[in-house]
Amino acid sequence: MLTTLRPLVALLLGLTLPLSDVPGPDPDPGFETITEEDVLADLTFLASPELEGRDSPSPGLRKAAAYISERLAAAGFGGAGEDGSFLVPFEASLPDPVVEACALAVDGSDETFVFGEHFVPVWLTGGEATGEAVVLGFGIDSDEDKYDDITGDVQGRIAVILDGEPRHRRKFDGPELSSAADLYAKLESLGEAGVAGVIVARRPEADSGRHSKRDAPPAADTSGAKLSFRHTWAFWNGERPQPPRPAGFPVLEVTLATAEVLTGIDLATLAAKADKSAKPPRPVETGRTLTMSARWEDRPLRIDNVVGVLRGSDPELADEYIVIGAHYDHIGVDARGRIGPGADDNASGVAGLLETAEALGKHPPRRSVLACAFAAEEDGLVGSRELCANPPVPAEHMVTMLNMDMIGRGETKEVAVLGVTKNPTLDKVLDDARTFLPTKIKKIVTRQGLELFERSDHYSFHRVGVPSLFFFEGLPISNNEDYHTWRDTLDKVDIDKVTRTTRLVFSTAWILANRDERAPEPRR
Ligand SMILES: [Zn+2]
Repeated sequence: MLTTLRPLVALLLGLTLPLSDVPGPDPDPGFETITEEDVLADLTFLASPELEGRDSPSPGLRKAAAYISERLAAAGFGGAGEDGSFLVPFEASLPDPVVEACALAVDGSDETFVFGEHFVPVWLTGGEATGEAVVLGFGIDSDEDKYDDITGDVQGRIAVILDGEPRHRRKFDGPELSSAADLYAKLESLGEAGVAGVIVARRPEADSGRHSKRDAPPAADTSGAKLSFRHTWAFWNGERPQPPRPAGFPVLEVTLATAEVLTGIDLATLAAKADKSAKPPRPVETGRTLTMSARWEDRPLRIDNVVGVLRGSDPELADEYIVIGAHYDHIGVDARGRIGPGADDNASGVAGLLETAEALGKHPPRRSVLACAFAAEEDGLVGSRELCANPPVPAEHMVTMLNMDMIGRGETKEVAVLGVTKNPTLDKVLDDARTFLPTKIKKIVTRQGLELFERSDHYSFHRVGVPSLFFFEGLPISNNEDYHTWRDTLDKVDIDKVTRTTRLVFSTAWILANRDERAPEPRR
């Protein structure tokens, strides 16, 4: 109804018809599928603690990739990877544990401990050690907090410590983790005390009520270790300006249950007592000797971009592509064990990508559509650069690239779009897209924050000559104190704004995918 009315209204008002040159089927059925409900469901899953901050690569990232693949398939897209897979892999040289060189045993016991199930090595630590195990509380030595777990002679011993800090209501800044919980600060103190090795027991999460009941069902993934590697430093903002220093001894992270088997000590109760009293427990001799080892090596690791293709409806234009994209990775977990949920950065953009794909799939436009979720953006646009170096379709066939990165904060009715200074003809397209369907976007800011143009994945496409636009919330990053911290949570995302921005992206994609001409090459 809307579509048939539109030209009539325009004629009556004597207006020009900006979209009269946009043939193709009716966009409305697709447009109507872009809903706040769907956006919220995507965001809830992608920003959930289960995905552990979507570091590249990690089990959490693989779960996100499986989810995105499913959503694209349901939208009618085919996989752009080998054998119809949505995963388009590339390799990056990164530290990787050498499984056969990582081990844990209790002397004189035939109990076996399995890599990934019972223990994982901690990054930046390595070597071999044998020593008598002693439980040293949380392994904290903090003058500031007047709290010292490292007492007595621990030279040559294996220290067994709990991760984090006592969960006390006031001490250590109450419910938030303080700097005393920093694992590498602990390892430095323990190293100075002369320990030969350290076992870190990971406690189950405190029940903070943060876990949403609305989680979309996670796609099954059993390929990752049960205990994933949680400590990453992909551009965390805040307390730690420098990456941590390597420890000269092996450190293994274990589950609390494994630590209890190793030591024969009820560590849950010991921890609960410290939670209550905020006093360091006395060192506990275990009477057991542990042997342990850890080793890391830089190796080429597989990381996946997720790419889907929707075939265009016009045989003459179907070999040309509109690219829509958003990065789906984030910054992992910090040294205090805090997850960076990356709700705004960039679960919001991925929700926009999936909703745009779904809408386009309802009624494929004349040109084909390439939907790309990029990995390793937070490591320096690595995923998009790799995709542009080995593109699933030639770059000359890519008509325009539309990227969404951080689209969930700031003014609800405003969107910032960068790239029109490089592609002046797209200014008019954006204007048309804003009003062509009821996007409810009142203002598009195109000439502020131009320095951000190099900071997200569209830039990789721009560099290979593809006209590219970058949709983002417009909030200066310096004003966003939650950017790249554990505070980038779902409750701070404006779902209405994500939905409006997505509608604008869909309308823009629709016009570009259906009109006769294509935009000229970008200005460099
Ligand atoms: Zn980021």
